[in-house]
Amino acid sequence: MSQSDIPFAESPVVPNMVGAEHVIQFSCHKGIACWNACCSNIDISLTPYDILRLRTRLGIGSTQFLKDYTVPHEFEKDGIAGVKLRPVEGGTACRFMRPEGCGVYQDRPTACRYYPVALLSMRRQDEYVDRDAYAIVKEDHCQGHQVARSLSIADYRREQGLDEYDELARGWRQLVLKKKSSGPTIGKPSLRSRQLFFMACYDIDRFREFVGADSFGQLFDLPADERAALLADDVALLQFAYRFLRQVLFGEESIALHAEAAQQRLAKVQAQRLIEEREAAKKRALEAEQDLTNDGESLT
Ligand code: SF4
Ligand code: SF4
Repeated sequence: MSQSDIPFAESPVVPNMVGAEHVIQFSCHKGIACWNACCSNIDISLTPYDILRLRTRLGIGSTQFLKDYTVPHEFEKDGIAGVKLRPVEGGTACRFMRPEGCGVYQDRPTACRYYPVALLSMRRQDEYVDRDAYAIVKEDHCQGHQVARSLSIADYRREQGLDEYDELARGWRQLVLKKKSSGPTIGKPSLRSRQLFFMACYDIDRFREFVGADSFGQLFDLPADERAALLADDVALLQFAYRFLRQVLFGEESIALHAEAAQQRLAKVQAQRLIEEREAAKKRALEAEQDLTNDGESLT
C-alpha cells in the first residue's frame, strides 16, 4: 500500500480532489486475487492515535513501540517529525500481515482504513479552519476497484471506523498544517521544540511522565484533579498533548503558568540566549582573526 497523508505528485493518486459525497466503486474481501498485495509493500505514516491503539494492542509501552515498529521521517526538512510503520527486516511487507489478513485489524492504522481513498487535509494561509478533501488511489495490483460495490466516501469512512480515528488525530494534523502553512514567519522550530513535539505526539508514555513530573507542576498551573484525570486517560492525555504543543510551538496560551515560575523561566531563557550570543560573537571574532592571519601569510 503506497499511501501517506498527503500524497506526492508521482504517487498513484488520481489527481482530482473530491468531497465526502463522491461515490467510489470498491470492495476488498478475502478470496480476491490480490489479497495482501497492498500490505506487501508499505509506506504508512502513523498518526499519534494510530500509535496509541497499536501499542495498547501489542501490550507494550510507546517508547518500545517506536523503537521496534517504526522509522522516523520528516514532513519537511528540519521541520516537524513524523513516524512510519517499519516493514519486515530486509523487506517491504508489513509486519502485521498474516495469510488470513491483517493481524491487528481492529487497531489497524488510519492509512490502512482509508485505502484506496487518500485524505487531503488542507489549510489556506489566510484561513483558520482546515478543510478535508479526498483523492482516490488507483494502483495496478489492486483489484478492489473492479468489484461492483458502490458507496460514498462518507459511508466508506463510517464503515472503516474513521470518524474516531480522524477526530483523535485532528489536533496533530492542525499542528502539522499550521507549521507547513506558517512558513518563514514562524521559522524553524528549535531542537527542543521538535523533541517536545515528538514526545508529546508519538511517545505518550514518556509524555505522561513529563506531565506527572514535579517540574511540570511547578511551571504549569493545572488543577490537581484535572492533571490526575489526564494522567489516567490515554485519549485525554493525547488531546492535552496537542493543546500543550499549540502553546509551546505557536504561543497560544491555553495552559496557565505559575507567575513566579514563568518569570524564572523567562530569566533563564534570556540568560541562556545571552550566553549563546556571546559565544557566537567570540566565534565570529576568532574566524575574522584567522582570516586576517591567512591574508597576511598569503601576502608574504
Ligand atoms: S497494519 Fe494491517 S492493513 Fe495495515 S499494512 Fe499492515 S497488515 Fe496491512
Ligand atoms: S483489493 Fe486492494 S486493498 Fe484489498 S487486498 Fe487487494 S490490493 Fe489490498
